[in-house]
Amino acid sequence: MDLVFATNNKNKLKEIKHIIIDKINILSINDLNHSDDLEETGLTLKDNASQKARFIYKKFNKNCFADDSGLEILSLNNEPGVFSARYAGLNCSADDNMNKVLKKLESIKNRNAIFKTVICLILDGKEYFFEGSIEGIITNEKIGYYGFGYDPIFRPNNFNLTFAQMSVKEKSKISHRAIAVSKFVKFINQRFAS
Ligand code: IMP
Repeated sequence: MDLVFATNNKNKLKEIKHIIIDKINILSINDLNHSDDLEETGLTLKDNASQKARFIYKKFNKNCFADDSGLEILSLNNEPGVFSARYAGLNCSADDNMNKVLKKLESIKNRNAIFKTVICLILDGKEYFFEGSIEGIITNEKIGYYGFGYDPIFRPNNFNLTFAQMSVKEKSKISHRAIAVSKFVKFINQRFAS
């Protein structure tokens, strides 16, 4: 069965292809000759994942899934949330985003934060959701060089390292994305095993 991943992110594609059963042929939107960015105008991660999956399902009439992730900081009313990628402006860098967070938290004691991922799967018109999250704190400064996005300022609870100090392998054991992906893959692998 073909299953379209509503993304053009090569790393995410590679990761999924590696862990999903052989019976499932994962296609990207590039494979369908769709190279435009998918709209994300929802107010929640769930809305955005669903919006992207529905768009592809309607346009190509193919089973598909989409994901959306973000960082929620409790004392900032869960900002940046759905705006994580563009928190400091449309063409901002990860550094700009982190600087904005650090500035906003300058005199704030509560630095609790949660990274979340939601995956929306559409199979024959029915929607299924899979969620993963990890709690931690925002550090006072950027620490570490691995990873991407907000990794240098996020330290998961019960760990002494930020995400940016962990290898990809270490981060993938505990991350919000890994948790959501493993729930999704378990569902697909069980459903299409026989
Ligand atoms: P996406 O939905 O996976 O593209 O994530 C949206 C944005 O959330 C990214 O551009 C990053 O700014 C942030 N983000 C999501 N996951 C992570 C992560 O694991 N580490 C750091 N930042 C992340």
